[in-house]
Amino acid sequence: MEDALIFCVDCGGAAPCALHPAAPRCFAVSSYSGPARDAVLSMKYENGRGTAFLMGELIARRFAKPNVDFLIPVPLHKYSERDYNQAEFIARGAGSVWRIPVKSPLSWRRGSLRQALKSGVEDRNLPEDVITGSGLPGGASVFIVDDVFTSGSTIRAAARALEGLGASVNGAVVWSKSGGSMKRYVDRAV
Ligand SMILES: [Zn+2]
Repeated sequence: MEDALIFCVDCGGAAPCALHPAAPRCFAVSSYSGPARDAVLSMKYENGRGTAFLMGELIARRFAKPNVDFLIPVPLHKYSERDYNQAEFIARGAGSVWRIPVKSPLSWRRGSLRQALKSGVEDRNLPEDVITGSGLPGGASVFIVDDVFTSGSTIRAAARALEGLGASVNGAVVWSKSGGSMKRYVDRAV
C-alpha cells in the first residue's frame, strides 16, 4: 500500500499547512485509487458493513491512537439509499482497535442540503450550518471519521457543528483521499 496521507482539513494541502495553521489535520490510509477505491465501491454496493468495519480497523492499525474521548462519524446523507451509515461502521472498526468509543451526535439539518444542491451550490461551499448536533458531553475531544475526503466540506461542516457543542476537534481520519491534482505527500504517520 502506498504512503499514508496527512493533510489540512481546510484546503486539502499538505499538513502542517502554512495557510491554515489552526485547522485540524486529516489522516488517510491512501489516495482514492486502485484497491483502496475498489474497497470503497465494494463497501457501497456489496458487503457494506463488514467492509467498512475492516477499513476502520486498517485505519487504526496504520495510525497511532489519537488522544480523544470519542470518534464521531459524519452523518449519513438524507438522500442516501443506504440503510446504514458507512462512516459509522468505519468509526466502529477504528474504535475497536483504538478502544475509543463512537458517538453519533450529528445530523444533516432538515432540508438544508437539498436546498443547497438545488440552488447549485458546489460541494465545496456547503452552507455553514448544514450539519447540526446534539447530545455530546461538553468539553469532549473528538476525531471525525468519514470514508472519502473530497473537498473536505462535509468534515468542515461536521467540525463546526461539534465545536458548536463545545467539543474540540483534534483531527479527522478517512479511508482515502480523492482529488487528482494533489501534490505527493510524505509519509509522516506518527
Ligand atoms: Zn490548509
